[in-house]
Formats: sequence, C-alpha cells, structure tokens
Amino acid sequence: MITRLPEKHITIAGIDKIVPTLKDALHVIESAEMFLGVIGTYISFIRGPSRTGDVQGITTIPMHGAKEVHLVLVDDWRSKIIGSDFEDILYCMNCSGCFFSCPISFEAVISFGKAFKGGVGIVKTAFMYGLEEAVAAGLFMCTECGSCKQNCPGEIDIPSMIEKLRVEAIEKGLVMPPHEAIVKSIKENNNPLERPKEERQAWFES
Ligand code: SF4
Ligand code: SF4
Repeated sequence: MITRLPEKHITIAGIDKIVPTLKDALHVIESAEMFLGVIGTYISFIRGPSRTGDVQGITTIPMHGAKEVHLVLVDDWRSKIIGSDFEDILYCMNCSGCFFSCPISFEAVISFGKAFKGGVGIVKTAFMYGLEEAVAAGLFMCTECGSCKQNCPGEIDIPSMIEKLRVEAIEKGLVMPPHEAIVKSIKENNNPLERPKEERQAWFES
C-alpha cells in the first residue's frame, strides 16, 4: 500500500543493491529471509508507474500506483572499495546474521559499529566515517572468533577485514587508551603489566 498510495514513489538505495538479474534478486530475498528468520508474504516488482492494457487494450498509465517512480542511487563510499581487500562488503545484504551471531555486538549488547551494527558495521563505519570512528565504535573489541563469517550467507570474511583495519589504525597511531598503556609498558618495561620486572619481583616476594 505504501508504494501505491503516494503520487510520487521515491526510492533511495546504495549502488551495491543492484544485482545482475531478477533471479539474483530473488536469491537475495530468499537468503535474507532465511537468515532473518522471517518469511515475506508477498513481493512487489516495481518497474515504473503502474500500467495496464486491460481496459479495451489501451495502455493506461498510471493505473493502481504512483504517477511517478524515481530511483536515487547512492555511491558515497562504495565504488572506492571496488578492487580493494574490502570489496566483498558490497555483497552484504544487511540480513543481520553477523550481528546476531557476534559475541560482542549481540550478547554483550553494546554499540558495535556506528551506522550499522555487528562486525560488518565496524567495516562499514571505517569507510563511511573514517578509521577514527571505527576505533571508537569498537574496532579493537572484536575477538576474531569468526562467528560472523560462519553465519553470513555470503561468507564475507569480516574478521580478516577487521584485522586489516586494525593494522591500518595502529599504523596511524589510532589505538584505544588501554592499549596505549600496554604498548608503552612493553617499550619501557619489556612487559605489558605496566611496572618494571624488578618491582613486580619485589611485590611477589613481599
Ligand atoms: S570475529 Fe569479531 S565481529 Fe565477527 S563475530 Fe567474532 S567478535 Fe564479532
Ligand atoms: S555481512 Fe553477511 S551476515 Fe552480516 S549483514 Fe551482511 S550479509 Fe548479513
């Protein structure tokens, strides 16, 4: 009904939502349903203002739906990752499989990712808002358990993308404050425990 009642139907979608064939589109719907655990009752195919030839064989536009149909395709960060180690993220269909299977984003019920949640949210955050935001949104909280990849219908290798983003973040000096202290201690004390070896020894012996 919401596509039929308005006079103008405007759809805004990322370019990654385009698939080569109608059959592929049905696969996307099936996979998303399977992983979301919901079954759609019906699907509407909209290819422009509705039309009919039922009335005396004369093509009549519009018939039951909007008079105008517009599609706005958004690129934003998407095309710049084509050809990179992260391009598989464009296969993401936002089914939430990685979110519900992630021990950090779901079971710990914390904000993990900015615009999108779950492991894929961290990766998308890095491209949408920058690495700094990805670090703030939990880049270093990932346990690298691999559950997101296992539960993704496209087997998108999110853990290895997170690992690569971490390397990039560290190279840019973007680490979480507790990690900074650990790195400092390793450099100064040759251990991560934030106190010199002799001091620790004395503490154990006391
Ligand atoms: S690898 Fe990281 S993002 Fe993926 S499920 Fe495990 S903790 Fe979550
Ligand atoms: S990365 Fe995979 S599991 Fe996560 S939302 Fe995208 S398609 Fe679903």
